[in-house]
Amino acid sequence: MYCPFCNQKDSRVLESRIADENSSIRRRRECESCRKRFTTYERIESFQLLVVKSSGAREPYTREKLRAGISTACRKTTVTAQQIDELIESVELELQVLGKREIASSQLGKLVLGRLSALHDVAYVRFASVYRQFQSIDDFVQELQRLAGEDANEESSALSDKLRII
Ligand SMILES: [Zn+2]
Repeated sequence: MYCPFCNQKDSRVLESRIADENSSIRRRRECESCRKRFTTYERIESFQLLVVKSSGAREPYTREKLRAGISTACRKTTVTAQQIDELIESVELELQVLGKREIASSQLGKLVLGRLSALHDVAYVRFASVYRQFQSIDDFVQELQRLAGEDANEESSALSDKLRII
């Protein structure tokens, strides 16, 4: 990638984002030589990803479906629509960087959960209960107990009770 100002080859990527409805990656770069900043757009040939469900069935990845799942988990929490959008962008970016054609739904769930845990505990537990990404029930119960200890939130403990029954 040549600098448009001094034509030197090396630049440093400052930020990467998905742009144009999933069809390109926008990168903010800084020239290593003259330190001027510029933006590049890398067109993605096609972002076709198959999600492999635990049954082994495959279905095309859709942003809307992922958004619906995350939005449900975040209902009545302080998480904003913009935060959800940013979370999805970040997940899609990671998938594209990994260059995968297929991803297990449990793996996709993990990518979301890692980010959701930083946003909201209740949303995290709700999403976890859908994706069941934990290796065993014990791990899951431990996680709930950790959250119950941290958060006396009514909704969260009600949810813990419900999950303990399952
Ligand atoms: Zn330069």
